[in-house]
Formats: sequence, structure tokens, C-alpha cells
Amino acid sequence: MLSIEEKIWDLIDDDYRLYTDAQKAIKMVKPCQMCGWCCKDNNIFITIPEAIRILAYTKARMRKVFIFDKTVNHLRLKNVDGYCVFYDNGRCRIHKIKPFQCMTYPVIFHPIVLEEDFGDKLKVIFKEDFIEFRCGSPIADKCTYVVETKAFQEVASSRLTFLMKNYHLQIFLIKMNILDVFIKNMVKKYPIEKWLR
Ligand code: SF4
Ligand code: SF4
Repeated sequence: MLSIEEKIWDLIDDDYRLYTDAQKAIKMVKPCQMCGWCCKDNNIFITIPEAIRILAYTKARMRKVFIFDKTVNHLRLKNVDGYCVFYDNGRCRIHKIKPFQCMTYPVIFHPIVLEEDFGDKLKVIFKEDFIEFRCGSPIADKCTYVVETKAFQEVASSRLTFLMKNYHLQIFLIKMNILDVFIKNMVKKYPIEKWLR
């Protein structure tokens, strides 16, 4: 049976693998215009490996950058003056290590895209063997990415498995009141260098 720390290392490995797989799967058609619209009034939920990574990179204190959302038992990024705490004049201060959902946006690696109509917020167009995603910026030329359908399915499936694993461990750590302790402890050991190459 794995210790809690071993389970977190396992999640950290999964997180890195998923991130790189998703980066390889996404092909840019039109680049992001860095208009900041998608960093405004956001609910960016953070997994355990992401929380550790962000703290290792920024050296910030947990409560400065995250809030704990009791309604869903999840950490999320703080908003300050209506924008994500890491948004700075059109730039993301944690761009190299930003959360998965920020890195992939407007691509959402979740089966939800097969069923949901996102209205003006996001356009998802299904083609024969790929899916096109357009952001919903009302103030800039909308950025557009495409992902081959097969690659989308593989990454979305791995992401769901990862999120379930993360959530189960997270709920256990919350019940034991040791989530913060483990996150802070792992920050010192986190291999942030491999994200900065
Ligand atoms: S809304 Fe679109 S163009 Fe603007 S920052 Fe986000 S992804 Fe980039
Ligand atoms: S982490 Fe970066 S990309 Fe994500 S919402 Fe914050 S500023 Fe925007």
C-alpha cells in the first residue's frame, strides 16, 4: 500500500505526463491575443500537483494565491480586482507552469464538449477527424486551436482518470485536515526545474 506522499508523487507524475501529452495534441491555428478576457472573474480549480507546482514556482504563501471553495471541496485561484491573482497587464505571471485548464484553453479536454453548447463563451466545431476550439473573447481576434479527435479522446480520458484520483486523495486529506500540511511539505521537494527547461 502506498503512503500518502507516494500517492502524491504518483499524481505529480500523471500531471506532468498529461500536460505534455496535451501540449503535443494541440495545434495552433490562430494565436492567443493576450486580451485577458479569459483570466477575468474566473473559477480555476487547482489539483494537488498544480497547487504544489504553483507554490514551488512563485514561492507564494497558500492563502495569498488560493482560496478553498467549501462548496466543492476544492482549491481555486484567487481573483483580485476581478482578475486572476496571476494576471498582469495582458500576461500570465505563471505562464510556464500555469494550470492545465489555462494551458489548454480554449481546448477543454472533457467529454462535456460533446454535449454542451457554450454560447458566446466558447465555440466547438466538430470536423471529420478533428475538433476546432475558438475562445469567446469579445475584445480580440479569437484564438483558435485544433486537436485530432483520437488525441482528444485519449487526453480527455486520461484527464478524467487523473481528476478522479486527485479528488479521492484530496477528499481524504481534507477529512484528515492535512491537505495544507502535505502541500507545503511537498513544495520543498517539487522538481520545478523540469518545467523551466
Ligand atoms: S480570451 Fe482568447 S485571445 Fe483573449 S487571452 Fe483568452 S485565449 Fe487569448
Ligand atoms: S493562471 Fe494565468 S492563464 Fe490562468 S487565469 Fe490566471 S493569469 Fe490567466
